[in-house]
Amino acid sequence: MKTGMFADIPVDIGVIYEGERIRKPDMHVELGGKKVDHKFELLRVKDEVEDGKITIIGPELKDLKEGSSISFGICIEVAGKELGEEMEGVFERRVHDFCNYIEGFMHLNQRYDIWLRVSKGAIKRGLTLQLIGKVLERLYKSELPIIEKIQITFITDPLKVQEMRSEAIKIYEARDARARGLKDEDVQVFYGCTLCQSFAPTHVCIITPQRYANCGAVSWFDGRAAARVDPKGPIFEVKKGKTIDEFAGEYEGVNQVVKEKSLGEFDRMQLYTAFGYPHTSCGCFEGVAFCIPEVDGIGLIHRDFKGTAINGLTFSAMADSTAGGRQVDGFHGISIEYLRSPKFLHLDGGWSRVVWMPADVKERVRDFVPKEVVDKIATEKDTGTIEELRKFLDAHAHPITERWKAAPAVAPAEAAAPTGAAEPAYAEAAVEASPLAAGGVVLILKNAKIYAEKVIIRREKRKK
Ligand code: ZN
Repeated sequence: MKTGMFADIPVDIGVIYEGERIRKPDMHVELGGKKVDHKFELLRVKDEVEDGKITIIGPELKDLKEGSSISFGICIEVAGKELGEEMEGVFERRVHDFCNYIEGFMHLNQRYDIWLRVSKGAIKRGLTLQLIGKVLERLYKSELPIIEKIQITFITDPLKVQEMRSEAIKIYEARDARARGLKDEDVQVFYGCTLCQSFAPTHVCIITPQRYANCGAVSWFDGRAAARVDPKGPIFEVKKGKTIDEFAGEYEGVNQVVKEKSLGEFDRMQLYTAFGYPHTSCGCFEGVAFCIPEVDGIGLIHRDFKGTAINGLTFSAMADSTAGGRQVDGFHGISIEYLRSPKFLHLDGGWSRVVWMPADVKERVRDFVPKEVVDKIATEKDTGTIEELRKFLDAHAHPITERWKAAPAVAPAEAAAPTGAAEPAYAEAAVEASPLAAGGVVLILKNAKIYAEKVIIRREKRKK
């Protein structure tokens, strides 16, 4: 018999479900994800909130066609004496882990990119959006007691999702704009985020004023707010310590935290490069920066890009090869907001190294790309092959051509593709290592087939 806070919920609730994947054959319905254009999650701090109110606009889960993918929105409004607008971003990010505590319910990504699945088993046992709302309400209030009132709206009506999504996009943009301007040099602490460790056990996001979290949903200001309201939570302070290399973005304090949180897997991280000791990539990044060795340049691709990139690979294929909390030389998970940072791939040459990107992303960040480079970067509308790209760059006198004179680019035959990229998989934010949790202990089986290569046991920090 179930007791406690979730006695009335037909499925289990707990940290142990965090890494749970729901594969296609087991899925009742997919909410958001890449098959639908409109999806979002948004949390707002309000003065007036009707505590405990859960609203569903559109059909309930059981009434959605089995196997379908539908437009989906989550709107959470919270109130409390101590709350401020600056906390919205981090509270919103917690939708991810709170949803994943629910057995038979999976949540990936963030903001306008969310991807959720509900299992057939959970539906059979009676899981509804109404009940999911109740779980979220209780988790929010117990994990973040600063929240006094909460009301939640789920939207499954596609037209309503579309309408509310455009409002949400404006709010994300305003949030990002507020966070711009501060420099890494201006602060003594950065923030770390391990929210993605359930899917990428060796990953820690380092969030600085000039580097957003990979997911694009947590700025340095968000990190600060989170560490204040929930000091034991997944977002924490990282002391910069001695600066090893300002230009590359390497700091003693960061290296220490990376070593500790990656359980010894990595001991160096340079924040502003895609090569050598790049930032690790979880699975929820908004885009991938990938090297194009034939022209010695860097390409960019984002999650919503439907075709193949200039190197012949889809976002899914590249994401698969990048994700999982690894440092992959030349393949690097990034947020869109990071493209607007003056320190974007600083060490690699920044924008003068970027040679190809989807037209859609280019428009979104155009104002942040140096004017003398922006029109020299090719998109899918300009080129389809590496040979065409080379000609395009040459014809437009892209700064990369200077590098060709200095050192000839690698021949196409040597072009590095990430391992496994030959068989593009359905990118469910690939995981090489899978965490198992039980009885307050998390067991991580690394690259385990029959025998585990390494078994790490660490204390589960989160209470409850
Ligand atoms: Zn992540």
